[in-house]
Amino acid sequence: MNINSALNYGVKILSNKLIPNPYLDSEILMSKTINKDRKYLLLNPEMTLAENDLINFQKLIEKRSRGKPLAYLTNKKFFWNSEFIVTKDTLIPRPDTEIIVENILKLTNLKNQLNILDIGVGSGCILLSILKERKNFYGTGIDISKKCINISKINAINLNVFSRLKLYKSNVDKFNLGKYDLIVSNPPYIKKFKLKYLEKDVVKFEPRLALDGGLDGLSEIRNVIKKSSELIKTNGKFILEIGFDQKNKVINLLNKEGFYINSTLKDFAANDRCIVSTKI
Ligand code: GLN
Repeated sequence: MNINSALNYGVKILSNKLIPNPYLDSEILMSKTINKDRKYLLLNPEMTLAENDLINFQKLIEKRSRGKPLAYLTNKKFFWNSEFIVTKDTLIPRPDTEIIVENILKLTNLKNQLNILDIGVGSGCILLSILKERKNFYGTGIDISKKCINISKINAINLNVFSRLKLYKSNVDKFNLGKYDLIVSNPPYIKKFKLKYLEKDVVKFEPRLALDGGLDGLSEIRNVIKKSSELIKTNGKFILEIGFDQKNKVINLLNKEGFYINSTLKDFAANDRCIVSTKI
């Protein structure tokens, strides 16, 4: 079978299963299979595929047709200015989370030498994007998942920021190392009983550990706020991603722990998604 026919086969299967971008996904999975970019596919539609490649492509299409996210099939996701390695153990970096990076860059400038802590570092997408843009900054990332720590480490090496990074496998409650100028966190904040209503691709394939915020969705947010108030320097900035309906409750929690609210940021769907505060 040639590239063009295989692509059409992929598109047909994905369309039948109502996968949103069948053409794009089919091309990306073919690129991965034969290790060539998408331009190559367009320029060589008649090229015959090796038997093995065809089998591998069909397997990828089959997995995608069952809803497995593209990022977990390619093990890659572009976020901010870099490509990150992701696995089934890391949450897939979201475009909405880029708003946090953008804001942290606005709040800081290259002249300062800041120490940043990321609680629940995951793939490292937030912290490493900042370290890449701010060559004077030092980062610490903690995560309860050892596998995430390993992925963060690989991403940090790929992005050339590993020399300015420390990583610890730790529960937020148990971590007591250092004082930080800025703390950022995208903790799990979905209510346990709402998990099943998330998009199928998310709930079936992404790590529970990164999504499940307990009965009221605030279990981990509470822990993160409490710990941050201990680890942050006076006047330090705290940037927290939150669920769309958690703004008022989280502001209360922050106020109780001595944080002044600077602003709340909306995501691309105009939901409240992030709170920026200062420790006073
Ligand atoms: N924003 C993610 C989602 O919509 C949730 C991430 C989180 O709980 N931190 O699936």
